[in-house]
Amino acid sequence: MNKNYESTRDNSINITSKQAILNGISDDGGLYVWPGLDEVSIDLSQICSQTYQENAFTILSALLPDYTEEELKDCISNAYTNTFAAADVTPVRKVGDVYVLELFHGPTSAFKDVALTLLPQLMQKALRSANQKALILTATSGDTGKAALSGFKDVDDIDICVFYPHNKVSAIQYRQMATQEGKNVKVYAIEGNFDDAQSQVKKLFLDEELNAYAKEHATLLTSANSINVGRLVPQVVYYFESYKYLVNQGVIQLGEEVSFSVPTGNFGDVLAGYYASLMGLPVKKFYVASNANKVLTDFISTGTYDRNREFIQTISPSMDILISSNLERLLYYMSGKDTALIKEYMDSLSKTGKYTVSAEILEKIQAKFGCGYVDDTKTKQVIKETYDETKIVLDPHTAIGYSVAKENVERPIVSLATASPYKFSQDVLAALGVEEKDEWKAMKLLTEYCQDPAPVQLACLEEKEILHKDVISVEQMKVVVKEQIHD
Ligand SMILES: *Cc1c(COP(=O)(O)O)cnc(C)c1O
Repeated sequence: MNKNYESTRDNSINITSKQAILNGISDDGGLYVWPGLDEVSIDLSQICSQTYQENAFTILSALLPDYTEEELKDCISNAYTNTFAAADVTPVRKVGDVYVLELFHGPTSAFKDVALTLLPQLMQKALRSANQKALILTATSGDTGKAALSGFKDVDDIDICVFYPHNKVSAIQYRQMATQEGKNVKVYAIEGNFDDAQSQVKKLFLDEELNAYAKEHATLLTSANSINVGRLVPQVVYYFESYKYLVNQGVIQLGEEVSFSVPTGNFGDVLAGYYASLMGLPVKKFYVASNANKVLTDFISTGTYDRNREFIQTISPSMDILISSNLERLLYYMSGKDTALIKEYMDSLSKTGKYTVSAEILEKIQAKFGCGYVDDTKTKQVIKETYDETKIVLDPHTAIGYSVAKENVERPIVSLATASPYKFSQDVLAALGVEEKDEWKAMKLLTEYCQDPAPVQLACLEEKEILHKDVISVEQMKVVVKEQIHD
């Protein structure tokens, strides 16, 4: 079996998983994939008798073969010891007849913590092998920035710089980032919107002068967003964990199929589930749940991916996205790893904003993937109804996945819960019928509805000192990045 990674757009690329994690994205614009993935076979009975950390080791050693046993065990222990409020990291809670997999008990109360606690560890080991340091540049619309700051804070050999749009993140997200401690972190508000920040970060990655300057200081400029292999593989683990729960609770027998419903934006989370199924997890169907930006619902229904449409701002902002980057990896596997064909589709996407897959590929996708979308009005209804019927409060993203799970007949079904309702207190409270303009008052009022208290790291934000006050122009971004590069 070939142990190395190639690009979705070029099968002559052949690099180790460590290098793939350091590079983030392939020079040809493609994403790193491992052709041997569907030859892996994970022993389910072993999974059902192991702890979360042991299962993470079993799965990561299959996916990242060039890391040593000692390196992986060290990474996993650093990432998941005392960082998640739940002892089993990603607990399952039955809500109605749906099994809700709670992924939000990490340090920043969003599911991105599961991957962003581990990625810095994996990156650090890879840097040591390459004798380098790294500077992570991240543009964020809110959630990723905080999870990345928290994950990379005080990690040796790595610095991080986060850019968010000034006055365009929620009160809680602003506080989460502006109060971030750590000797290796910098946070800037940008005059502009998220796209301005993201485009400039992409330009900086390609800036020859800046890269040469970084190289002189043995520093690699890289990113922590969800196209990095190192963000994807930690997410495979909790699909197996939820299966372990269902077997050990006697809901299913070992080997029986389950289905999953996943609130989706960039297609990273649901793709990790598909990876789990390629590695032997018995899955009947994955439901891709979208908000009003329903590019993926249309794609799975028709075979045409078309981003030429209005961008809609919703109450599930982490799913407001029109280019679901990780879909490219699904197409790679569904096309029988036809990298020339994927390159054609992606060239078409960048030139015309759309592409249409072959009838054969569409049929294969539809056999494994269902879809559905939920707009803001319905999202609020679902939050209210679920609370009335079960006394459980869902966040807007989670409510979308839950709603799509309810609408479909497949059972048992696991629905992924991606954020704490407290992270979106105002909108959730409004869905429950209470309007409160002050975010902190809203958080306090919400505790009367939720079974769990507000996570300490959110509740204490109001009192924390603001450490990052700089508001800069897009042009100044290069200057501040340069200042953060050192020997
Ligand atoms: C990022 C995010 C999502 C979407 O996940 P993808 O991997 O981008 O599909 C859903 N919910 C929340 C709360 C998120 O932060």
